[in-house]
Amino acid sequence: MPMSQGYGAQSATSPLAPMSFERRETGPRDVRIEILYCGVCHSDLHQARNEWHSTIYPCVPGHEIVGRVVEVGKKVKKVKEGDIAAVGCMVGSCRECGSCRAGDEQYCEKGAVYTYNSEDPVSGGPTYGGYSTDIVVDKGFVVKVPSGMPLAETAPLLCAGITTYSPLKHFQVGRGTKLGVVGLGGLGHMAVKIGRAMGAHVVLFTTSPGKVEDAKKLGADDVVISTSEDAMGAWKRSLDFILDTVSAPHDLGAYLKLLRKDGTMCLVGLPGVPLPINAFHLLGQRVRLTGSSIGGVRETQEVLDFCFDHGIAAEIETIALGQINEAFERLLKNDVKYRFVIDMSRPR
Ligand code: NAP
Ligand code: ZN
Repeated sequence: MPMSQGYGAQSATSPLAPMSFERRETGPRDVRIEILYCGVCHSDLHQARNEWHSTIYPCVPGHEIVGRVVEVGKKVKKVKEGDIAAVGCMVGSCRECGSCRAGDEQYCEKGAVYTYNSEDPVSGGPTYGGYSTDIVVDKGFVVKVPSGMPLAETAPLLCAGITTYSPLKHFQVGRGTKLGVVGLGGLGHMAVKIGRAMGAHVVLFTTSPGKVEDAKKLGADDVVISTSEDAMGAWKRSLDFILDTVSAPHDLGAYLKLLRKDGTMCLVGLPGVPLPINAFHLLGQRVRLTGSSIGGVRETQEVLDFCFDHGIAAEIETIALGQINEAFERLLKNDVKYRFVIDMSRPR
């Protein structure tokens, strides 16, 4: 079996360290991709450290993958050797259930196969992600990168981009919508850019006064420091839709109060602990609280095309794979503008 070199965690408390592991042979439906860039999502950190209590070790994270196709199986027509292709958070699903047929593979009734930390239906072993030299993926889960897109800046679209685009589209955010985005991190900064491109009035809520100017440059019409009760009070009952991207425990009620009647708050951030809800905050204005998971494969292609058409890409800082532990620590300190991307060509 071909060997891949990557960085993985052996336990919740061990730092990521170099490891080699087997990738399956390129089957008839498979595409082998040499990884050029991989974004660093906060989910990678949550999972490497078992914060969601579901990690299979060893764990090689990474689900914002852009690379070069180096081998394709006989049945693959979609891409050819030498093409630039991308892989997001999923590498498989049943493809037969209602969700899969609707293009919502992330809601597969039998459970989607995630790019890492899932069982590989072909090999039976764990799936390993993009903090590695190469990956073998079923053609149904490979998307094409439009020619001319900056590759490193495209990688974060494979998770941060699709995870924010999908709910904004599903809940029909557009011209006339007052959109609140909570948190200016990897997901949040994409939500600001995409929400603005969709025509919404974007109000960014941040705990970091140092991000105010950036938020405006990225496309926020208004910026609110969420730690100030007075500043928050000024937005009471004013927003149509709120996308909450926060990775840590925080007060949902403070945001539910900002929705107008029948408004919707959608959680995409995934803190490792349950967050309390006060029923008064829901029924007072009949507001809805919902959540959204990544997006389907077709929609992932759509977000790449949408971003290309609108000249949107992520704001990134590139790192070498060997700097991943330092990057995780900086992510926790909120010290990234606004996504780390591993450049596999950089020496360790
Ligand atoms: P990130 O880059 O670390 O951004 C998170 C942001 O949340 C920070 O930049 C910060 O923004 C804010 N924040 C952090 N700690 C906070 C606290 N204690 N109180 C209030 N705000 C705080 O993370 P990310 O990669 O964007 O991911 C965000 C979350 O989405 C993670 O939980 C991740 O697992 C989840 N996620 C979910 C999906 C999905 O399918 N739904 C997909 C990908 C990621 P400010 O400095 O502006 O306050
Ligand atoms: Zn992610």
